[in-house]
Amino acid sequence: MELATKDLLRLATIGSVDDGKSTLIGRLLVDTRQLFDDQIDAVVAASEKRGVGDLDLSFVTDGLRAEREQGITIDVAYRYATTPTRKFIIADCPGHVQYTGNMATGASTADLALVVLDVVSGLKEQTRRHLCIAALLGVRSIVVAVNKMDMVDWSALAFQRVVDEVETLSRQLGFESVHVIPTSALLGDNVVESSSNLPWYRGPSVLDALESSEAGAWEQAATLGARLPVQWVLRQPGGGRTYAGMVCGDSLHVGDRVTLLPANVETMITGINFGGESILEASVGMAADIALAHETSAGRGDMIAAGPLPRVANEVVATICWFGERPLTVGQRLRLKHTTKVTPVRVKSINGIIDIARLDVDESTTLTTNDIGLATLQLAHPVVVDDYRANRVTGSFVLIDEATNATVAAGMVGHASFL
Ligand code: GDP
Repeated sequence: MELATKDLLRLATIGSVDDGKSTLIGRLLVDTRQLFDDQIDAVVAASEKRGVGDLDLSFVTDGLRAEREQGITIDVAYRYATTPTRKFIIADCPGHVQYTGNMATGASTADLALVVLDVVSGLKEQTRRHLCIAALLGVRSIVVAVNKMDMVDWSALAFQRVVDEVETLSRQLGFESVHVIPTSALLGDNVVESSSNLPWYRGPSVLDALESSEAGAWEQAATLGARLPVQWVLRQPGGGRTYAGMVCGDSLHVGDRVTLLPANVETMITGINFGGESILEASVGMAADIALAHETSAGRGDMIAAGPLPRVANEVVATICWFGERPLTVGQRLRLKHTTKVTPVRVKSINGIIDIARLDVDESTTLTTNDIGLATLQLAHPVVVDDYRANRVTGSFVLIDEATNATVAAGMVGHASFL
């Protein structure tokens, strides 16, 4: 089974509080008929209880979110939607400042970011920061809903002002596909149906733009060689071992010459097992089990690689999105989790902080909550890494606070492409 298909689009949502993100997602789900009758009834009841009169669509998502948060803590609420041409996985990331870390979790596997902003206030600092993180995480396409057009009397001029702002930032961040769409999530204009209130706008609705966007970018982005981070070593009944993990970067085949790292053992794939069957090729996203020609002592956290080889690193220079409550400082000790491996690290140096307004690097010796910066980390045990721009899986890591076990940072090996 392939984990991702071409018609599956993964999107992360981005927007500052109150710009209308919940309402827009609610509108998308209602107008494409994704909700069950009892869910709609619950929204009607909640709207009446709060005395908001009409159906308040933000209850659709806020209500579902609250429902799902009971009992278990979730960082990102995933929602699924299907239209005749597409399946969507929507990572609904809360817009509050303190949720930047969750936004990064949602964006790290996204093909596209759906951005909602208020036409009156334009691009807020928080939205700029989230777009910056999405770009860092390899998102290349954005669909921007310039929302609340009803509040500016459907003014083309007001829309154009925001378009200019968005296009300037998009150029700086290097997004390849940018759709900017005037909407009223509240009234339903241009979310699913096109709008008669906006005769001057001839482009797609939000749904049209989502349906025509390229899916599977996440899998296609990496082309620089196949990797299998070893998750389990399995002992076979007749003797010998096989190595299980999820394939990324490119597919692996029986007969491929591969290198086991960090041991640097050159060998060959003699068999691939998937779900109890022998197969000849393991494609990207597949959790496969691989037999090698040589006996090795490889274990969890090692990597089987083909094509241009990844680096074995004792030190990494990385771009860091810091979410910790206390600042990140030089000399600090943390745990780094990279693919299937965890190792203690020490912050060797902080090499700068990104100024979100100018998209430039300033000097700094610390990073505080929500800062994005550059740092050099010293690793207790070597890890096998690629540059993030070459491979989103083997180029990314998270940092964990040793005392609290909380994830305090997302890291990308190498420097951001827009710096
Ligand atoms: P979120 O914090 O981004 O999820 O924002 P919500 O979806 O909760 O919306 C915040 C407020 O803006 C709510 O009172 C909505 O009813 C209102 N709102 C959302 N979209 C629109 C819109 O297109 N036009 C107008 N006038 N109000 C809107």
